Amino acid sequence: MKSTAETFLEKSQEKATDRLHRKTINFNIGRYNAVVPQGKSQFAQLSVARERAKNAKWRALESLDSQLETFEILISSRGAKVEWAEDAEQALEIVRKICEAKQCRSIVKSKSMVTEEIHLNAFLEKNGIESVETDLGEYIQQLDGEPPYHIVTPAMHKSKEDIAKLFSEKLGTDPSLTPEQLTLVARDVLREKYRQAEIGITGANFIIADIGGVAITENEGNGRLSCSMPKTHIVIVGIEKVIPSMTDLGLFWPLLSTFGTGQKITSYNTIVTGPRQPGESDGPDDMYVILLDNGRTRILADEKQRESLYCIRCGACLNACPVYKNIGGHTYASTYSGPIGSVITPNLKELDEWKHLSHASSLCGNCTEVCAVKINLHELLLENRHVAADKGLAPFSEKMAWRIWKMAMLRRKWMNMANGNMKSRMINLIGKSWSRQRGKLVFPKKSFNQQWKEKHSQ
Ligand code: SF4
Repeated sequence: MKSTAETFLEKSQEKATDRLHRKTINFNIGRYNAVVPQGKSQFAQLSVARERAKNAKWRALESLDSQLETFEILISSRGAKVEWAEDAEQALEIVRKICEAKQCRSIVKSKSMVTEEIHLNAFLEKNGIESVETDLGEYIQQLDGEPPYHIVTPAMHKSKEDIAKLFSEKLGTDPSLTPEQLTLVARDVLREKYRQAEIGITGANFIIADIGGVAITENEGNGRLSCSMPKTHIVIVGIEKVIPSMTDLGLFWPLLSTFGTGQKITSYNTIVTGPRQPGESDGPDDMYVILLDNGRTRILADEKQRESLYCIRCGACLNACPVYKNIGGHTYASTYSGPIGSVITPNLKELDEWKHLSHASSLCGNCTEVCAVKINLHELLLENRHVAADKGLAPFSEKMAWRIWKMAMLRRKWMNMANGNMKSRMINLIGKSWSRQRGKLVFPKKSFNQQWKEKHSQ
């Protein structure tokens, strides 16, 4: 069986030469790039806003235990039940038990990367429970049997023609429907699902400690319907999503929408602080909040990597990354793709199996440049490589290559033994995978050493 790294290289090779894929991605990212400057214009001092957000996340993470306890006390006082899950298995078991108690056969779900991380839909399906994605992009992906391609834009790799064809195959619609007509088809199907569902599951963009609330931001209203129409609402959220206070939300909401989609503010912004209270007309009878660790406390314990927990999942680093733009989201084979995925996946999972993602970077630093909360992403990628090398996890061939390279570099005489032609032949023989898609590497006829000597002997 192929290793994760081998599969990654194979898929990267395939995607990087797929012109249609590149065209669709560049078109969609181009649209994003066109609107982001408008969103950014709302900040008088954007750099200060990003710095303040980073400081707020620093404060939240440095006192994570007490922030989460405050949240739990406050939201529990209004009747919500808070559950703590150490890993995916525990979170799934909690969901299963709630479904059993509620005799649930049908669930509506809003967009949530954490539920992708724990493979919730597959688990529910195995337990005979229908779980329907209600975010349009996620719904398209679910219809196609694919995971999300991008953390903000799940179906970014699909053109409108692809979607019309998919709807026609799966829902029997006319293949010439326009995007507006396709949206109305999805709307009709999903409205019926809301009527049937016993439980609604959402993620949370932020956990607000000082009011005991969860903040959900979205553009379609499906998140708000998922947490208010069914009788039971379950929130599944990573523990790092905490922000200290309601005041911080005034900064984080516009920051997330600007860096995520270029909007000044997202269309629907909901704060949920518990189930329906006496005298209220809307909301579920019961509410559960599952706080998921699943490797996050391991990252928290690492002083250098801790910063990666500041991420607000805006997706800006994916859109800016030259590697992501060429190989696409699915190639990573992990829930979180792009630069942030390459930083956190080896730490959330096993470093040995996922360390190759940290090498999928040109280290251009563009991800750090665009990050909404100024995470030093390229440095964290280097740190992953450093830790993997320190632990001796590099493959034997790589270790040998560096050993030979070091020996040669320290011995000028060896370097001068071969002329430019011989070096070119050798490097093109070793680096076949490089020259397969590119021009051959050509060494100058005279080495730098020879040129230096000639210049200084004149
Ligand atoms: S690392 Fe930064 S840019 Fe990337 S998704 Fe997270 S907040 Fe956005």
